[in-house]
Amino acid sequence: MSVRVVARIRPLLEKELDRDIIVRADRAEEGKPLTIVKIPSPKNGAEEFSFAFNGVYDQPTSQEELFSAEVAPHIKALFQGLDLTIFAYGVTGTGKTHTMRGGLKLAERGVIPRLLSNVFRRGKKIAKDTNGETTVTVALSYYEIYNDKVFDLLEPPENRTPSGLPLREKDGKTFVVGLSERSCEDLKDFERIYIESNTNRITAATKLNAHSSRSHAILRVKVTQTTGDTVRESTASAIDLAGSEDNRRTDNGKERLVESAAINKSLFVLSQCIDAISRGDKRIPYRESKMTRILSLGQNNGITIMILNLAPMRSYHLDTLSSLNVSSRAKRIEVREIENELVYKQVPRTSSNIGGAARQPLRPL
Ligand code: ADP
Ligand code: MG
Repeated sequence: MSVRVVARIRPLLEKELDRDIIVRADRAEEGKPLTIVKIPSPKNGAEEFSFAFNGVYDQPTSQEELFSAEVAPHIKALFQGLDLTIFAYGVTGTGKTHTMRGGLKLAERGVIPRLLSNVFRRGKKIAKDTNGETTVTVALSYYEIYNDKVFDLLEPPENRTPSGLPLREKDGKTFVVGLSERSCEDLKDFERIYIESNTNRITAATKLNAHSSRSHAILRVKVTQTTGDTVRESTASAIDLAGSEDNRRTDNGKERLVESAAINKSLFVLSQCIDAISRGDKRIPYRESKMTRILSLGQNNGITIMILNLAPMRSYHLDTLSSLNVSSRAKRIEVREIENELVYKQVPRTSSNIGGAARQPLRPL
């Protein structure tokens, strides 16, 4: 299992009123790639906090650049039987959906359509290279977790049971019981299914973002390779999490507050899981929310990429700090697995640095 945690800072949008940029990408040393995010202290503007990641992508990073750097290198492993999980974490309005789904124009396509396109291409190549002896099929599931209930997005909303679909564990993996699966031939096929199902996703207006998603959306791409009697199955999951903002700021109405409580709880459980894994605890509180059961961070035998989306402006200051804290701790999950550089050496630490990462002593590897 390996977890890679990267941050992506989005550009200012033309219409944005707050043009006060406070988040910036930095490198540990001259000539090294960007791995550090810097942000001023909210209490003392002269003081700056630093958070280290496996990679940092700044404003001008294109969809293509992010995909080729972070996702494309793992497609081979997917076909070798490893599961791949990519999830976007961050405050509403920071670019999670842009990163995962993206726009319709070719250059604006996000991780998901690019992933599918690569999977189809590799599948075709394998079939060709083996003279058709190996066949590759792709099947999709798409669902959301809304108020801690699982709903199938491949089904129209009127077919939903109010209680949602149950989860079950099998061979150490968590499955959604009764989830539909649609086989998918090519990218066109995928786009038709994906666009249609996205209209089934619950979105509601909040003060922060007119169509902010209040649910976690999970796309599951099952790749099956068949050679004679041998079948190899692996799964790529792409997850667009609900916004991690502090909902006290968003003037939510009553219904929104029920949603917010569920969103905040699952994201809170996620941060607790991250902390527990990074501390090396035996007990990880996965079971306390459906989202963390499904994500099973640190449990699955595969590759996980967490993309922290950030908006660079001052109006996001506190929420940005809180998401930097959660995700930079997630980075330690990998430090434990793979012997790489002593990450926290790069980060200037002061006694007042915010966050568990800075406060807790670094454990020996
Ligand atoms: P979230 O899903 O996190 O709420 P969105 O993906 O909806 O955020 O992004 C908010 C807005 O910012 C959208 O208008 C989106 O098109 C724009 N945006 C986000 N990231 C980028 C980027 N890297 N480049 C250009 N525009 C972006
Ligand atoms: Mg979104």
